[in-house]
Amino acid sequence: MTAYPNLEQALKYYFGYDNFRPGQRQIIEGAMQNRDLMVVMPTGGGKSLCFQLPALMKPGVMVVVSPLIALMQDQVESLRKNGVAATFLNSSLNQYKTRSREQALLGGKVKLLYLAPERLLSERFLPFLDLLHHQVSISAFAIDEAHCVSEWGHDFRPEYRQLKLLRSRFPNVPVFAFTATATNRVRDDIISQLQLKQPCIHIASFNRQNLYYEVRQKGKSTYGEIVSLIRENEGSGIIYCLTRKQVEEIAFKLQHDKISALPYHAGLSDEERSQNQTRFIRDDVRIMVATIAFGMGINKPDVRFVIHYSLPRNLESYYQESGRAGRDGEPSRCTLFFNYGDVKTIEWSINQKTEEQEQLIAKQQLRQMIDYAEGTVCRRTIQLGYFGEYFPGNCNNCDNCCYPQPVEDWSIEAMKFLSCVARCKERFGMSHTIDILRGSKNKKVTQYKHNELSTYGIGKDRTVDEWRMLGRSLLHQGLLEQTNDGYSVLKLNALSWEVMRRQRTVSVAIPVKPKVPELKQNAKAAAADMLMYKLRSLRKELADAQSVPPYVIFPDSTLRLMAQVQPQTRDDFGKLSGVGSHKLSQYGDRFLAEIRLYRQEQGLSISQGKFTPGNNSPSSTELQTLQLYQQGLSIREIATQRNLRPTTIVRHLCDLIEKNQSVDINQLVSKEKQQKILQVLESLGDISLTPIKEYLGDSYSFDDIRLVRGKWRRQKH
Ligand code: ADP
Ligand code: ZN
Repeated sequence: MTAYPNLEQALKYYFGYDNFRPGQRQIIEGAMQNRDLMVVMPTGGGKSLCFQLPALMKPGVMVVVSPLIALMQDQVESLRKNGVAATFLNSSLNQYKTRSREQALLGGKVKLLYLAPERLLSERFLPFLDLLHHQVSISAFAIDEAHCVSEWGHDFRPEYRQLKLLRSRFPNVPVFAFTATATNRVRDDIISQLQLKQPCIHIASFNRQNLYYEVRQKGKSTYGEIVSLIRENEGSGIIYCLTRKQVEEIAFKLQHDKISALPYHAGLSDEERSQNQTRFIRDDVRIMVATIAFGMGINKPDVRFVIHYSLPRNLESYYQESGRAGRDGEPSRCTLFFNYGDVKTIEWSINQKTEEQEQLIAKQQLRQMIDYAEGTVCRRTIQLGYFGEYFPGNCNNCDNCCYPQPVEDWSIEAMKFLSCVARCKERFGMSHTIDILRGSKNKKVTQYKHNELSTYGIGKDRTVDEWRMLGRSLLHQGLLEQTNDGYSVLKLNALSWEVMRRQRTVSVAIPVKPKVPELKQNAKAAAADMLMYKLRSLRKELADAQSVPPYVIFPDSTLRLMAQVQPQTRDDFGKLSGVGSHKLSQYGDRFLAEIRLYRQEQGLSISQGKFTPGNNSPSSTELQTLQLYQQGLSIREIATQRNLRPTTIVRHLCDLIEKNQSVDINQLVSKEKQQKILQVLESLGDISLTPIKEYLGDSYSFDDIRLVRGKWRRQKH
């Protein structure tokens, strides 16, 4: 086998990353050997890179088949930001654009071409592909979301079936299939449908190590807990609800509590939905409250938490939905709120199904979901077990591993409970049984003369909630049963009698209120947070100026590295993971300047000699500000119009002044003030702003000083 010692270098050069994620290297080596590929990797595993890097290293153009236009545009956008020649063809383009892109392709100027299957297979397009192959050669067909070829998958698309045509028409072009769907049946189906030839098969673990999983009791305090989760965690989050009404309610409450949140459900117009989605992806809004209609095709890699306000129907859905957190590999949180009310709701809807087989499957799936929610072992062991993957436990990143629930012997209580069920002749439900145990004077109790039973009032020492917990635990452990007719009548079984005859003990896990792990921070980390905030603002500003999502500029992990390492030279900046050659030249200077400014304000050392501002021409965002300023708008007006903070606008103006652009400083700072500030700068030098301000007193603002300093620096250069 050939080794590719330069793969790491290529990874760094094009994408800025230092290391491959698990599996990526082997897959890419297979691709470089022109083999067919079958890759199964969970969401966030890094599938795209497995075909993107080979596309850049191989001669010719790679054709990528992708089912959703939005996904295509996202990927092409991200690639272009890395300086990669990528393009797409789809129905959103006019004829003129289509033609010019086709010309670029035939001219060998493009390395990756994204297409929807419908276009690829159209009568008109196939001859173009022949020509393309003849002229520049097609290096491979990469089929993204390949499970769409399979009827067994959850997303079957008939047009994907036709893709087998590629094999006969281009027998020597390798075909790569990628999916996040785990089942063997789907995988085998993909291989046969696409007629892959002895493919290099790679199946990654479905363990998402960076995700913290937890389950909490759903109750009165849930909304409050959601608010604290949002306040205690940084970044974007998704809250999944079962119904539109819940979505609307929670979104409204959050907005009322001054948390930036928007709703998303099938009842909104297409336009509203896509608007809300864009605002979420661009970080204009932090929280998306949604039904499961939201998520398919959302590529946002920096979702920091996913909260399930309602119980998902099955574990696979839960895995996929919660898996939308942390695609970028950064620590993220998945919280499920669980109560029996939700189980009832789902049971009710299952009972509406007419096919018995379907009902049985749905019930089994619900059972597994409940097992997960109630389970006291490692959440990963349960989840991965569901996908047929063995996980030994002790993940140290789920509630059960971090805060194991104490187990108590409740045999006596269980005997009381079960005998009460027996005395009621197995004809009543949970609430009524508890009423009797607690000696309630409820009408129903007296009506049936249940206040005369020997078990009446023998359970006053426990609360209703405690009895309920025991009752559920008995059901869950199979020591008691419940009818499925909608009345949930409690029934005894052989095991129940064993308990009552003292032949079996009963242990229950006592839920403890989960502590939210506190973020311990030292002063240095807190300071780095401040820089992080500034870097985030700069990233947002650059992103807005180019109408792209912020993560396309740099991922969170790279910003964090910047804040920690605080590089001061282009060389050091280029070494950060996530900074490739193209992004270094595009954004390096802006971020270096921000870091430098921060260090200056903190009174930290600045390496004078090495830092070289790349050029003295204004950036595009500065030019936009300049234009508005020249139209006579005030700083505040510019800020509002551009949706930026006023301080950012001031900073633009300072830089513009320093870069010798025509900003009339006399309109911003009075001449007398200017003179005074210049004097101070002359005597104190280019030191941080705080001592200068202290010297000058309260009638001078930081902005005044900053602006005049721009002028002063310009004169010094
Ligand atoms: P998938 O399609 O498997 O869900 P993506 O291809 O979208 O995953 O990748 C998820 C995220 O991981 C992206 O933000 C991508 O830039 C990042 N990523 C991929 N490979 C690496 C790597 N080797 N090092 C760091 N980040 C990576
Ligand atoms: Zn665990």
